[in-house]
This record gives sequence, C-alpha cells and structure tokens, in this order.
Amino acid sequence: MKALQYTKIGQHPEVVEIEKPSPGPGQVLLKITAAGVCHSDEFVMGLSEEDYTAGGYPLPLTLGHEGAGVVDELGEGVEHLQVGDAVAVYGPWGCGRCRPCSQGKENYCVNASAEGIKPPGLGAPGSMAEYMIVDDPRHLVPLGDLDPVQNVSLTDAGLTPYHAIKTSLPKLGAGTFAVVIGTGGLGHVGIQILKALSGAQIIALDVSDDKLELATHVGADHVLISDEHAADSIRELTGGLGANAVFDFVGAPPTVALATSVAASEADVTLVGIGGGTAQVGFGSIAYDAAVRVPYWGSRSELIEVLDLARSGRVSVETQRYSLDDGPAAYEALAAGTVRGRAVIVP
Ligand code: NAD
Ligand code: ZN
Repeated sequence: MKALQYTKIGQHPEVVEIEKPSPGPGQVLLKITAAGVCHSDEFVMGLSEEDYTAGGYPLPLTLGHEGAGVVDELGEGVEHLQVGDAVAVYGPWGCGRCRPCSQGKENYCVNASAEGIKPPGLGAPGSMAEYMIVDDPRHLVPLGDLDPVQNVSLTDAGLTPYHAIKTSLPKLGAGTFAVVIGTGGLGHVGIQILKALSGAQIIALDVSDDKLELATHVGADHVLISDEHAADSIRELTGGLGANAVFDFVGAPPTVALATSVAASEADVTLVGIGGGTAQVGFGSIAYDAAVRVPYWGSRSELIEVLDLARSGRVSVETQRYSLDDGPAAYEALAAGTVRGRAVIVP
C-alpha cells in the first residue's frame, strides 16, 4: 500500500510503497478515508537528529495523527464494531488502565511514556496511508453520517481547541472577551467553538489579511494583525481591562508575551501552540490571579462532543483536499502559510 512517510531527518516526507498491515488480536484495521495535516508534524520534522531521537520518534515514520476511516478487518476478540463502520480515530493513545485513562483522558495517561505508547503519526504508524492499524477499539469514535474529509480534523484541530476552551467557559459569559492568536487549522475551529459555547466577543489575530478574512468568515467579532500594536488595540477593544481568556495557537516567544500582556485579572492564558515561547509569570508581570495553562489534545468524551457540534452544524472545518501522492505538497503549503483552514489528505 501507499504511505506518506518521514524517512530522513531534515528532508521532505515522501510517498512510499509498504506492506499492508494486518490486525493482531484486539486491533482494528482501518481503510483510511481522510487524514489531516497538522502543524505539529511540521514541528516534529523540524527537530534536529538529536531531539528527534530523544523524542522517541521512529524512522521511517508514517505521518498522520488526524485520521478517519472505515473498519476493514477486525483482529481476534474485537467486538461491538462491524466491518464497514465509519469511524474517527481518537489520537492520544494511552494505557487505558490508569486514572486519567479511566476518565477518557488518555491525553494525560501516566503510563504512556514508560510503556512506549505513542499516538498514531507521532510514533505509531499514522493515517497518511491506505490502511492503518488502530491498537484498540476504544480509540475509535463513530462518525455516523459526518463526511470524513470535512470532519477528520476535528480529531485534533477540533478536539484540542475544544478541550482548551471548555475548561475556560466559566470565565466567558456575556460581556467578556476572548482572544484567539493564530487562525489556522486549530484557530479557525477554536473561533467557532467559542461562538457556539460562550458569550464572549472574539478578537482574532494572525499575520495576514487572508487569514483574518477566514477568521471573520468563521465568526470573529474583531480581527487584528499580530504586530507590536496588537496589545494596545486589544486594550482599547476591551475598555482597558484586557481579555478574560487568551488562546495562543502559535506559542512563539512574541505571541506568548502578547498573550500574557493582554490578560485581564482572573483571566486564563492558554498556550496551545508549540512555538518555543515561555510565559513570564510573577507578581507584577501578569494581571492579578491570571492563570497560565498548557493543555495537550483532549479526552475521548470531548471528541464525541466536538463531533456532535459538527453534526448540529455549529462547527465546520474549512478544508483543502490533497491526494496521498500530493501529500508532500500539502506540507509545503502548510510551511508556506498558504493553507486556508486545514489541508486534508484523501488516499
Ligand atoms: P497552522 O499552521 O494551521 O496555523 C497557525 C496559524 O498561526 C497560521 O494561520 C499562521 O499564519 C498563524 N501565525 C503564525 N505566526 C503568528 C503570529 N506571530 N501571530 C499570529 N498568528 C501567527 O497550525 P495548526 O495546525 O493550527 O497548529 C497550531 C499550533 O498548535 C502549532 O504549534 C501546533 O504544533 C500546535 N498544536 C498543539 C496541540 C496541543 O495539544 N497543545 C495540538 C495540535 C497542534
Ligand atoms: Zn496535531
């Protein structure tokens, strides 16, 4: 079968021919219907050889941690799934036994690292292939009649902002302000989730007018270019008080500095992007009682919830399709900043 793999440190990913896997006991083989292209893959492929190895990533690595497919074959002992079922993959795989896993929060599994359990596409073979092995049926969620290409990215670009935003909802009643920094894959879904679940006015920031046009299209109330004037503009829009929640989907040094500087008293500053920035926190360097959070992905139940939001029409991912053969081009477009919403690979 064909797969898109990262094969050499520092090189572009390439389409290769590999053997079609077959499911072992308890596993499920999916025929992939869609696979989303995330900036985190770009981050992983940008690591030095030393950091890549230290991170425990294998070479070659079949990419794709956003996946949707149709059940193709069931391993021995798998019940409650049928060949032909349309499913989405819950990506942050954990041990399934520890306390967070028991709560469906496998994103915070306490055993994954010790047991070498890795998410698909970020260690285990991912969804950018014609077929993929899912290690356990609990890592599958029914898609029902949701279109896989339109909705595959909800497994990360939807789930991650959903988890980040849901935690801050008590601070986002009517009359409040939420700032979204970076309106790409995660950010443009985050704006819609804020719109659907909170009473906040949304101030969205990005670096180009094209990106801001998408932000307005998906519901941002105010848009700003993310530059040295942005903090003043946010202060002005919020009556001098700052924002009640800031979601930084870039996480670079300048955006993290901006995020903490525009936080109101008792605000949540949530750093989702992994752009190498760190927050300065101390008495006098951030508003009183502001909290800084660094969430990772989301829980299985939150994935079900975000798919329900899509089913009710309140969240929709802006997608650009690529074939598996054109997968490398999707990553080039992502790196060039020309993807509107999310690039999705359709094998
Ligand atoms: P993306 O490339 O689709 O979107 C990033 C957006 O940020 C782009 O629109 C870009 O123009 C904009 N941007 C870049 N620099 C900016 C700046 N200085 N100010 C404002 N906007 C700026 O990326 P994505 O797939 O949405 O991922 C966003 C980030 O979240 C990445 O760092 C990714 O690795 C990370 N991520 C984290 C988690 C998690 O669990 N914490 C999960 C998924 C992705
Ligand atoms: Zn991701």
